[in-house]
Amino acid sequence: MSEKLNQLKEILGEVSDLNHAASVLSWDQNVNMPPMGGEARGQQMATLGKIAQEKFTNDQVGKLIDELKNQFPPASDEANLVRVTARNYDKAKRVPASFVAEQALATAKSFDAWVEAKGKSDFSIFQPHLEKMVELVQRYISFFPAGNHPYDTLLDDFEPGMKTSEVQEIFSALRPKQVDLLKKIKSAKQVKADFLHKKYNEKKVWDFSETIITQFGYDWKRGRQDKAPHPFETSFSVNDVRITNRFEADNPLATLFSAMHEAGHALYEQGVNPAYERTSLANGVSLAVHESQSRMWENLVGRSLPFWEYFFPQIKKLFPAQLAGVNVKSFYKAINKVEPTFIRVNADEATYNLHVMLRLELEIGMVDGTMKVKDLPEIWNAKMQEYLGITPPDNARGVLQDVHWSSGLIGYFSTYALGNLVSAQLWEKINKDIKGLDDQIRAGQFETLLGWLREKIHVHGRKYDPQDLVQKITGSKIDPTAYTRYLTRKYSDIYGL
Ligand SMILES: [Zn+2]
Repeated sequence: MSEKLNQLKEILGEVSDLNHAASVLSWDQNVNMPPMGGEARGQQMATLGKIAQEKFTNDQVGKLIDELKNQFPPASDEANLVRVTARNYDKAKRVPASFVAEQALATAKSFDAWVEAKGKSDFSIFQPHLEKMVELVQRYISFFPAGNHPYDTLLDDFEPGMKTSEVQEIFSALRPKQVDLLKKIKSAKQVKADFLHKKYNEKKVWDFSETIITQFGYDWKRGRQDKAPHPFETSFSVNDVRITNRFEADNPLATLFSAMHEAGHALYEQGVNPAYERTSLANGVSLAVHESQSRMWENLVGRSLPFWEYFFPQIKKLFPAQLAGVNVKSFYKAINKVEPTFIRVNADEATYNLHVMLRLELEIGMVDGTMKVKDLPEIWNAKMQEYLGITPPDNARGVLQDVHWSSGLIGYFSTYALGNLVSAQLWEKINKDIKGLDDQIRAGQFETLLGWLREKIHVHGRKYDPQDLVQKITGSKIDPTAYTRYLTRKYSDIYGL
């Protein structure tokens, strides 16, 4: 058996090399590439993707999987490697290459149309392209056996094993609680945060972001932080996990929180068992679990009072004029200010999930045909009013704001909110397991926390399905109650509710 397993691993290794080479090209496109390089880069990445796909869907892979099934103890790495590979193989085989090519072409056009539509705040430019994207995902769904809901197929690509009905159940329990909390916050006295938007020196902010994530345990021998239009994390191996960041003059300290967020993703990737390299078990297990890590470092750690009791004296020393008259408590309140905004990526912790829920409802409606694409702007605005109490002044700040749908990414959004929920579930368990964690954070010590995450989550890579992993660690599947407790406790203190 070990010879056949080695044959499978050799093919998976080559597929992984090709995909990682394409990721390097994509990283370079975002970080270094001159503006005219786009077309050739697109071709290069498409070629690598095609070769990787052909290699992976070769009948030999299917044959090896069949021969290796049920040959290893069920809990072993080998059995899980075969199981995860079989699932990926089955998915890849169902989708015809001609469909993939058609989708790639339509997506490129749709993305351009979205850029124009957003620039002009004119939904009619994007509408036919979005209709095409919806038609394509409906066809994609038709390649798979019918589930309970057509949307299940899309969700499964981002959150293996998760069902639409489960997400709907979680969100319907969570939504009224968040809407209610938001109403209470809105009727309380608003906190002062003007000092966050003064002029801050870019280099000093950038260097301070690196001080923080170094203290978290981000390994610079296996990583780097570069400037890019949007913050993201990408990994080419467990020993090369990179992050990007940006500086916005009107929101200068966002750079710190983006660094913590992306470092949270990167710490996960740097912690996966090196034995899983170049196999189907490498990398984080799902988007929700990944987001639980980034959100934990950004919010549960990075927007907490103990964290700033340690770091506030340092930032105050760097920016004495900007932070004159500000103390650690008023700084803490300011970075946690709640204010409904039109734009999801700028949303605070109390409103963020509401943005995501709105998108999920629209996606499900588009996919099952209960909502027409042409009606989306109106539905969007009505739901914004219902959940957040505000109505976007135009479609650029409404239905056109996110890139996802233009790229055919439907099924992705809910994982952002699920990640928040998982982060709070993990945090309750961590605080049971690590006595005096707040005191450690107050002393700038993160080793015990990182060690816990490494042992319970990171090292396992994709070995366990996400819901099983959460269950194994916390004793329950993804559940909204811990997050509601966290938000209520935090904002009751900040807003005196
Ligand atoms: Zn993230």
